[in-house]
Amino acid sequence: MRNETAGAEIARLISLLARLPGLGPRSARRAALFLIERKESQLAPLIGALAQVAEKISPCRDCGNLDSVNPCAICTDPRRERGMICVVEQVGDLWALERAGAFPGCYHVLGGTLSALDGVGPEDLNIVRLLERADGASEVVLALNATVDGQTTAHYLKDLLAAKGVAVSALAHGVPVGGELDYLDDGTLAAAIRERRGL
Ligand code: ZN
Repeated sequence: MRNETAGAEIARLISLLARLPGLGPRSARRAALFLIERKESQLAPLIGALAQVAEKISPCRDCGNLDSVNPCAICTDPRRERGMICVVEQVGDLWALERAGAFPGCYHVLGGTLSALDGVGPEDLNIVRLLERADGASEVVLALNATVDGQTTAHYLKDLLAAKGVAVSALAHGVPVGGELDYLDDGTLAAAIRERRGL
């Protein structure tokens, strides 16, 4: 009976781990065993980190970045050029651009792309807030993935922003077709944003 209970708990841990991006059932079993066998050195710190993230991290009300302060540290950094807004699909893209150290302005996280196939419309994305922020901005850089949905979304936003009289630019070529920003090396990403082109 006791073993059955323990087994169910481990099975639940494995099934939760298996849902994580990049982990399948086999990796999840290995990770679960790794954690269980290292309660003090790995499992306890992980539980602590998860609890802290769950309690403290939320999306920035201005840009959608994830941080423990709201507005986020980037939005309130006085060294940032507030008039320059770089639009990205996901927080992971923002992280990639920050790793490349290539952008001196602020960001705006859309939360995805328009997608007829997946039924994602403008109302599902963080667009209203972007248009509010774009008032008074000097430039909006569309750093969307070089996928069909990413480029469809870029054209849609370009029209809305141009109607407001905001200068709109996009990443330079060098981002491979179908390429996702998160997978680009820092040098390529930095060059793409440095040599961005007006739309
Ligand atoms: Zn922010």
